[in-house]
Amino acid sequence: MKLLLHTCCAPCSVYCIKSLRAEDIEPTLYWYNPNIHPYVEYKARRDCLVEYVKQKQVKLVLEDAYGLDEFCKNVVDKITTRCQDYCYPKRLRQAFEYAKKNGYDTISTTLLYSIYQKHEFIADLMEALAAEYGVEFLYRDFRKGWQEGQDEARAAGLYMQKYCGCVFSEEESGIGREIGRKMKKQGVSPTNANVRKLVESCKVDGIIVPGVVKAAVNEAFSEYGDIID
Ligand code: SF4
Repeated sequence: MKLLLHTCCAPCSVYCIKSLRAEDIEPTLYWYNPNIHPYVEYKARRDCLVEYVKQKQVKLVLEDAYGLDEFCKNVVDKITTRCQDYCYPKRLRQAFEYAKKNGYDTISTTLLYSIYQKHEFIADLMEALAAEYGVEFLYRDFRKGWQEGQDEARAAGLYMQKYCGCVFSEEESGIGREIGRKMKKQGVSPTNANVRKLVESCKVDGIIVPGVVKAAVNEAFSEYGDIID
């Protein structure tokens, strides 16, 4: 099997490489992630992966394309559905194109490792692209190794990002963390899912309005007094 593994970042690749090698499958990693912004973040994730593959002696194909401008133009009318409507298809189709042109018979993606990604959508999209390109899709539920991969990535000193990749995810995650911190200070320990749901509910036409966030959080947790001041 000649496997191309679309790779979003070094930490997510840790468990994927390990479990594939345990099956005697040697992946070639493929970096194509124009969804990561701003440039300093893009560079941090890319350079971390470049160093990590040297340590692990894994082959890496680097499709070096930073794309804030193009990304924003393409998602401007679909901010809330940007992952499914643009980001996943853009990156994964490019990986299939490369696999097809370069004789890879099988393909997979580290996006199937993250517990924060839209796993079922990604798997279905990979199936559809596999049929279109005539390249086999290797499905693995890498999420079962989530904690193991995270622990190993931290122990290896890899750069651990704090948000998914695009500027919109940075905004959501930043506000989510702020809410989480303030809740903890009040002795409330909300789950990630609850915080995310709350952040989503604070959007007005897909836009986060700080005043709305404040009102929604304080209302949702009114029994604890004001969480956000
Ligand atoms: S949240 Fe993540 S998957 Fe969704 S569009 Fe942004 S970078 Fe892509």
